[in-house]
Amino acid sequence: MINEPKIVEIKEIITETPTIKTFKFNWDFDKLGKPNPGEFLMIWNFKNEKPMSISQINDDELAITVKNIGEFTSQLHELEAGDLIGVRGSYGNGFDNTFKDKRIIAIGGGVGMAPVNAIATDLAKSNEVEVISAAQTKDELLFIDSLEKSGVDVHACTDDGSFGFKGFATDCLSGLLESSTYDYAFVCGPEIMMKGIFEILESSSIPGQYSLERYMKCALGVCGQCCVDSEGWRICVEGPVFENDKIEKITEFAKYRRDASGVKY
Ligand SMILES: Cc1cc2nc3c(=O)[nH]c(=O)nc-3n(C[C@H](O)[C@H](O)[C@H](O)COP(=O)(O)OP(=O)(O)OC[C@H]3O[C@@H](n4cnc5c(N)ncnc54)[C@H](O)[C@@H]3O)c2cc1C
Repeated sequence: MINEPKIVEIKEIITETPTIKTFKFNWDFDKLGKPNPGEFLMIWNFKNEKPMSISQINDDELAITVKNIGEFTSQLHELEAGDLIGVRGSYGNGFDNTFKDKRIIAIGGGVGMAPVNAIATDLAKSNEVEVISAAQTKDELLFIDSLEKSGVDVHACTDDGSFGFKGFATDCLSGLLESSTYDYAFVCGPEIMMKGIFEILESSSIPGQYSLERYMKCALGVCGQCCVDSEGWRICVEGPVFENDKIEKITEFAKYRRDASGVKY
C-alpha cells in the first residue's frame, strides 16, 4: 500500500457507456503491491482526490471505471491516453477471493459493477460464477461481453426492459432463486438496491459480502469522515466490504449518509 500518490500515465481509456469510462494504467505489483478485488484507490487529478474501486486487475495493470456525475468525475472524463494521474492505495479490506468450486452470484447495479467485475472475473477461474449486471437502460449496461468471455454466466437486467430481463436486480435475483441456489454472493450498487438484495439473500440463507460507499477524505482511517452508525466502522479501513452479519449492524444502511461536512442526508 502506498500513502503518497504514485504518478502514472493513462495507457488506455475505454468509453463503456454514454456516462462511464474505464481508465487503464500500469501498476508494478512487486513494488506497489497487488490489490485484491473489492479494494479501492485514491485518484488525484492534481486538483482533487476521490476514491474509485479497482475494476480490473491484470498483469501489472489496473483499471478504474468512472461514472461522470460531478466536477471531479467530469474532469477525469476529459483526460486522454498519455495524460497523468496520481494514484495511492490500494485501500480497504476487499472481497474474499479464496472460494473454490462454489456456486457464486455477483450482483452489480450501475457503476457498482466496477468491483463486481473484478471479483467475478477472478472467481470465475475456479468457481461457477453468475453475474446480474443491472442498469436503467441498455446503453448503461457494463462488462456484459468481457464477463461472458471470462466464463461468467451473465444476466443483463434493465429497468426499462431495453435489454435482458425487464425490471430491477432484485426481481431478477428472485426469479433466479426459483430454480437455483448459490453458496455465496457479492453485491455492489445503490444502497436501496443492496438493501433489497440483502433481504432476498437473507431469506434464502445465502451469505454474502456488500461493498459500501461513504464520503471519503483521507482513506487512511484517520479523519473519521467515512464512519458509519452505530458501530463507527470506517468504510476506508474496516470496509468498504462488509459481510451480511455486519450489514445488519449498520443502522444507517439504506437510510442516510453524511456529506463532506458530516451532515446527515
Ligand atoms: C470506496 C468507494 C469506491 C468508489 N468507487 C467508484 C467507482 O468505481 N466508480 C465511480 O464512478 N465512483 C466510485 N465511487 C464514488 C466516487 O468517489 C464519487 O462518485 C465521486 O467522488 C464523485 O465526485 P464528483 O466531484 O464527480 O461529484 P460530486 O458532485 O462532488 O459528488 C456527487 C456524489 O458523489 C459522492 N462523493 C463525492 N465526493 C466523494 C468522496 N470524496 N468520497 C466518496 N463519495 C464522494 C457523494 O455521494 C456525492 O453526493 C466510490 C466511492 C467510494 C467511497
